[in-house]
Amino acid sequence: MATQEQRTSISWDYAPAPESPDHVRLRDSYGLFIEGEFRDPVDGTRVASINPATEEPVAEVAFAGPDDVRRAVQAARAAQPGWAALSGLDRGKYLFRIARLIQERARELAVVESMDGGKPIRESRDVDVPLAAAHFFHYAGWADKLSYAMGGRSVEPLGVAAQIVPWNFPLLMAAWKLAPALAAGNAAVLKPAETTPLTALLLAEILQEAELPPGVVSILPGDGTTGAALVREPDLDKVAFTGSTGVGKDIQAALAGRRIPLTLELGGKSANIVFEDAALDQAVEGIVNGIFFNQGHVCCAGSRLLIQESVADTVVSKLWSRMERLRLGDPLDKNTDVGAINSLEQLHRIEALVASGEEEGAVRRSVACELPSRGFWFAPTLFTDVAPAHRIAAEEIFGPVVSVLTFRTQAEAIEKANSTPYGLAAGIWTDKGSKAFEVAAALQTGVVWQNTYNKFDPSAAFGGYKESGFGREGGMAGLRPYLRVTNGTAP
Ligand code: NAP
Ligand code: MG
Repeated sequence: MATQEQRTSISWDYAPAPESPDHVRLRDSYGLFIEGEFRDPVDGTRVASINPATEEPVAEVAFAGPDDVRRAVQAARAAQPGWAALSGLDRGKYLFRIARLIQERARELAVVESMDGGKPIRESRDVDVPLAAAHFFHYAGWADKLSYAMGGRSVEPLGVAAQIVPWNFPLLMAAWKLAPALAAGNAAVLKPAETTPLTALLLAEILQEAELPPGVVSILPGDGTTGAALVREPDLDKVAFTGSTGVGKDIQAALAGRRIPLTLELGGKSANIVFEDAALDQAVEGIVNGIFFNQGHVCCAGSRLLIQESVADTVVSKLWSRMERLRLGDPLDKNTDVGAINSLEQLHRIEALVASGEEEGAVRRSVACELPSRGFWFAPTLFTDVAPAHRIAAEEIFGPVVSVLTFRTQAEAIEKANSTPYGLAAGIWTDKGSKAFEVAAALQTGVVWQNTYNKFDPSAAFGGYKESGFGREGGMAGLRPYLRVTNGTAP
């Protein structure tokens, strides 16, 4: 029989389990999706979207210029009244169809999401793609119940919505934006992020297959200049943006005085709070999920870990031993926990903030894993001896880096959690229900998870406080930003 020492020294090697990309039907080059067709750009360019795990091009994509943007907005304006005139039941049927087609092409969408953006296939397969379909299903169900959702009052769609999404959940963010807008009878022009346009273009194929009336949705890949041109288009009725607080402020300035309703989903520096009475092993799993899910490229990542002093050493030691077992590498390998950093630019941002943590005196530990020779990678990293004033405790790193702070009392935990300009999400780990409710009520954040983290559901509203933005997406609340609600009662 093996001795205790032998048993604990077994090392578990995983054989590679790569997901095959053979079934993926990517074109070599994609046009802009306008009026229901893929079109050549009028004044845009063509750019290769690369795989951040290999630095190889995946496909070439057209980037929209200002004339292309104008054309898409005009197409949306022309198509919107017909779309709004359909019964809610009929709009719902289109959304159901889109949801079913996403499910049918789920495997392909998951592989392309991982190839284009670097996230582990396990996440794109089990989270991004199923949740994207779930959002279309959810809002399909609301399309004929809009007035009911608004307390029985009369409702109208706003008209034409400009929607801009980031690169961390490309397909899912497109679904978050499009599904409620379409259910409510709006037309939309969507701009995916520069580094991850491909699943939005596969979604365009799905919209074609679903026979969505041309012009109701246009998809315009591009960079920041495309987004800036889109929000400056004169003929818009709504702008919805998910991305950084800096660009959010720029969009706010561009819309000043234009009476265009705006939804902003911005950055975060969310606190994950572990009390001494928590189930610590469970909490460690939640901490790992909170910060290493999607390489920490998550707006609500639990990047500030607040641990009660009495258990801080225990939690840090359990966390470190769990981190040492994370598998970093090929995003298409089903065993991979931590994939590639989305872009070289993002890698440089993470490296600069981590260097500032060391310079300011925090203690850094990075897992000694082997980083692939090509592509963009960052080893899971833990900082202790962090002071609230350190940049790594205050600024969003948007990478696989967690900063540990400690607290003594519940009041101190609340004060530290709230002492940030952001307010997107928080986690609370405790065995005491009353404590969880008390702390949750005192936290200035849009979402609070209790004894779990990073759980999303289409029926739950999501959004920020303070500099994390305003407006809500998801659930019944997610319809409101796409409707004009009048005081009259619906017939
Ligand atoms: P970003 O630079 O703000 O980009 C977001 C989107 O806006 C991209 O499509 C981007 O195009 C576009 N854009 C850039 N400059 C623009 C401008 N001047 N006018 C209009 N659009 C412009 O953010 P990111 O670096 O891609 O994403 C990371 C940030 O997003 C993080 O701060 C994160 O917290 C936040 N985020 C928030 C949520 C949420 O729900 N609250 C969700 C995900 C991410 P390019 O791709 O060409 O830059
Ligand atoms: Mg890419």
